[in-house]
Amino acid sequence: MNGLPARRLLLVHAHPDDESINNGVTMAKYAAEGAHVTLVTCTLGEEGEVIPPGLAHLAADRDDALGAHRVGELAAAMAELGVADHRFLGGPGRFRDSGMMGAPQNTRPQAFWSADVDEAAAYLVEVIREIRPQVLVTYDPDGGYGHPDHIQAHRVAMRGAELASESAYRRDLGAPHTVEKIYWNRVPLSVVEEGFATLRAAGGKAPFPGLATPADVPGVVPDERITAEIGDEEPYAAAKAAAMRAHATQIAVDGPFFALSNDLAQPLFTREYYELAAGRPGAPAGRREHDLFAGVQA
Ligand SMILES: [Zn+2]
Repeated sequence: MNGLPARRLLLVHAHPDDESINNGVTMAKYAAEGAHVTLVTCTLGEEGEVIPPGLAHLAADRDDALGAHRVGELAAAMAELGVADHRFLGGPGRFRDSGMMGAPQNTRPQAFWSADVDEAAAYLVEVIREIRPQVLVTYDPDGGYGHPDHIQAHRVAMRGAELASESAYRRDLGAPHTVEKIYWNRVPLSVVEEGFATLRAAGGKAPFPGLATPADVPGVVPDERITAEIGDEEPYAAAKAAAMRAHATQIAVDGPFFALSNDLAQPLFTREYYELAAGRPGAPAGRREHDLFAGVQA
């Protein structure tokens, strides 16, 4: 219908780097298999802290030039994952990073957290009706860990999917389309505990100053909530690590571990996990899917 590959996957994320940390293996795998993979990032991540001292001047409280720099980091990461279709919600800079919950940046007029959900969702409807994805991946209602932009990305993704399917809604944005399956990013508790045990056994935290805890990992749930898992295959695991490295202002990777700007070591998960939030499961009850498109009709 639109000349795109038969399988189409859409991911909605808050900041550049979230896609590589959460879904790097999944994106690389589906792109390599010929599916159309579309990433929509909602902000430029302007309020992030900067890890390399030489780039510290980019930060919001100094040159306020981090957003433009992270556009380049995201492009480099997408090249590592083989993903050509990456966009910013409403265009680059339409919505600004809101900072951590409670920060004064939350209430700026351009802040994503301050945006009207329906207004922001309209930009996503346009993408959904163009690409017509069968599968959408985003965060759970808490955004995985309570960051305002992640919570808002969840709301906009869910509302965008809803509005895109309504036949009476904004026909100027394209013909209605129903996303068949919606997944939330998850990590099973047993995998987090095992990952941190491996990290401790490997000598702890070197070369990072500190050690994160399982509570620092977003989206952790009891194992039985997981409905799908993707990975751990080469070369996709290596592509994920390379994509994370491309976000050099935000992530420091060391072998099977990485740290964010808090300098706390955590495991780099090369298997990725999902909870089906809407749509029909493609695996028998109690079994995990190994393909996000399992059971897809159209
Ligand atoms: Zn983020």
